[in-house]
Amino acid sequence: MAEKTMKSRHVLLFPFPFQGHINPMLELAAVLQSRSFSVTIFHTDYNYEAVHSAKYPSYRFITIPDRVSKLTTSSSQDHILSLMRLLNDNCTTPFLESLAQVLSELADRESYVPCLILDLHWYKINPVAKLLGVPTLVLRTGSAASLNGFIALPALYKKGILPSKAEWELEMAVEELPPMRVRDMIAVGNDPEQILNFVVLDAENARTSSGIIINTSRALEGAELDKLQNDLALPVFAVGPLHKHEKITPEAEASSTSSCSEEQEQDQICMEWLDMHPPQSVLYVSFGSLASMDPKDFTEMAWGLADSGQPFLWVVRSGSVESVPRVELALPDGFLKATHGIGKIVEWAPQRDILAHHAIGGFWTHSGWNSTVESIAEGVPMICTPFFSDQMGNTRYVSDVWKMGVELRTPLDRVEVERAVRRLMTTGDGEDMRARAGDLQGMLSECIKKEGCSYKAVDDLVVLLLSLSLSHSLCDI
Ligand code: UDP
Repeated sequence: MAEKTMKSRHVLLFPFPFQGHINPMLELAAVLQSRSFSVTIFHTDYNYEAVHSAKYPSYRFITIPDRVSKLTTSSSQDHILSLMRLLNDNCTTPFLESLAQVLSELADRESYVPCLILDLHWYKINPVAKLLGVPTLVLRTGSAASLNGFIALPALYKKGILPSKAEWELEMAVEELPPMRVRDMIAVGNDPEQILNFVVLDAENARTSSGIIINTSRALEGAELDKLQNDLALPVFAVGPLHKHEKITPEAEASSTSSCSEEQEQDQICMEWLDMHPPQSVLYVSFGSLASMDPKDFTEMAWGLADSGQPFLWVVRSGSVESVPRVELALPDGFLKATHGIGKIVEWAPQRDILAHHAIGGFWTHSGWNSTVESIAEGVPMICTPFFSDQMGNTRYVSDVWKMGVELRTPLDRVEVERAVRRLMTTGDGEDMRARAGDLQGMLSECIKKEGCSYKAVDDLVVLLLSLSLSHSLCDI
């Protein structure tokens, strides 16, 4: 019987095809593989290279055609929302066909129907999987607080709290979601109805699943997780930080190095450059995989960094400055000369390895949730410049709840940039933030040890996956 159960452990995963969603799903795959699950990953053409299937020889990969062209130079929130809708519209039918095919293949070998773990943003896929009798769980790659915000949004619109109309309203507390203020809530962009519709679909996706997996930890968000569990009345598994769980499989080793599309050679160059610097002396600067900046902000950012005189390693993606396709064209005249010897610019970096390097003393981030968790997991304090989605809320937690960073909103000004960088990197205030970051890092590392809360959450998740598989298969008989 034990042998049969082991043989039947199989899980299907479908990440949303953005870097910040692919990374945690691949980490979850590695964690489940460590618990003896075999893994099938569906992924779309979009960002195909980010999945790097060659690195994971024992996963089965299945490509879903999406007929979506890649973002080039503009990635406003409204644009990204349209893209997400298009991906849902285009992928649902081909996914259904692939899923049916996989199930019929597995039926020959497996006793149980495997569970499907979907990204929260695949809101159209959940009902389709149910049609085929497949139990689903949802992976939320953002924080628990941000998911609480999604769930509360319709009521906040109804009460007139959002979308906010006047500047003074932005400072108002959102009583339902402490410690959030109106300005920490998801930005509504130019089309408030679009974001509301999207958030309602995501929340429904969570509600109709058999459980929510979140890349967070009780050490960071205990009260927020309790609220989520109460509101949804579903099991919630806070398994984070996923990338720090013990790795025992070849796939896990592969996913512990950043799963970006850049050549290993460039990664090596970054690390060697960092090796030449004293401990905690370098500011790492990266605004993730999607945000794009106003060219004026970019110029102020560049000169603020230069004027601070602090060593920096700066990721400038192609297309990360609005309407400027190439990095060289984005940098202001004279900047490279002014920062020669103190700064390094790359198009992509092995972020997790960089944050773990002893030379890093701070991280100027856009406050994407993965970047936030990765920074906390290495005890690195932050400067937070949020752009959209959950980034404003994450900033609130970093600066005011965990007190391990400073907020620096757009529009940027070079004098304020210089001040923020110096504050984080050279003052006692920065030291205090670093110490608090170190404390949180210690707490997170306890969570993933055996008997730690995130480790136990994985245990509980495994139990649910097996029981769902078993009960669904028995129903079919
Ligand atoms: N990342 C990376 N190298 C870079 C920039 C980003 O490896 O140069 C990774 C980063 O480690 C994180 C993900 O890309 O895992 C970005 O996710 P996040 O949620 O922070 O932001 P998003 O890109 O979704 O806005």
